[in-house]
Amino acid sequence: MIETVRAGASAARAKVVIFDFDGTISLVRSGWLDVMVPLCVEQLADLKTGESQAALCQTVEEFVWRLTGKETIYQMMALAEAVRDRGGQPLEPRAYKKMYLDRLWLKIRDRIEDLRSGRAKPEQYMVPGAREFLDSLAGQGLRMYLASGTDHANVREEADLLGIAHYFKGRIFGAQDDLKSFSKALLVQQILSCTGGVAPDELLVFGDGYVEIEEVKKAGGVAVGVATAEPACATVDAWKRRRLIDVGADFIIPNYLALDELSSALFQVPVAQ
Ligand SMILES: [Mg+2]
Repeated sequence: MIETVRAGASAARAKVVIFDFDGTISLVRSGWLDVMVPLCVEQLADLKTGESQAALCQTVEEFVWRLTGKETIYQMMALAEAVRDRGGQPLEPRAYKKMYLDRLWLKIRDRIEDLRSGRAKPEQYMVPGAREFLDSLAGQGLRMYLASGTDHANVREEADLLGIAHYFKGRIFGAQDDLKSFSKALLVQQILSCTGGVAPDELLVFGDGYVEIEEVKKAGGVAVGVATAEPACATVDAWKRRRLIDVGADFIIPNYLALDELSSALFQVPVAQ
């Protein structure tokens, strides 16, 4: 099942495909939002400004979503900012990030250990159909990049655990301590300006976050919003769909199971009317 949001959208000319990782291919960190949002709300509620829990949730959800796809530290900087705006004395964003990752670890530890030991199959923690789809793109000779806002070492390990690292041939990028050294925006710019040149409409992205969709659309590429309803990933999540369309997604998919339909909707050369 694929929804075409922008009539006439086509990735028939695609040469390069960027994939976001968490929520787009990997479900290892599924549920991260339910860790990050309450943590941020707690920090703001501690300031006792009189704002309702619902109002704080709304504030937090707004900045968390707007920065989804960017390195985690940016969401933590926004939290520090929200604390400061309310007259509080924020911790260092790095301290908030550690707090978040410690809590997230409790949720995902068993998944990673089960994958490491072989007790769990990689498919258990992947958006359904992702492997077959990556296979078919590799077969078409497309150059693929994996780009994530999660720390680089974690993305590397989790891509290995899911057995998908080889599709990207070293083109795997995650968050670095030096924020200037990597971002999805930088990656898009590098791809477009590399020798041999990739034209904007030769760029295709798959993502479930604001940032990757926005950057590729700004550059003139084609964007597929992966609005999967986790953890079953059988249907479209209405909340994600709305937001991905608002930021410019050309197509929406719930997963990669309808491989033939997906490939023809994306890559068939549109017939001139
Ligand atoms: Mg994501």
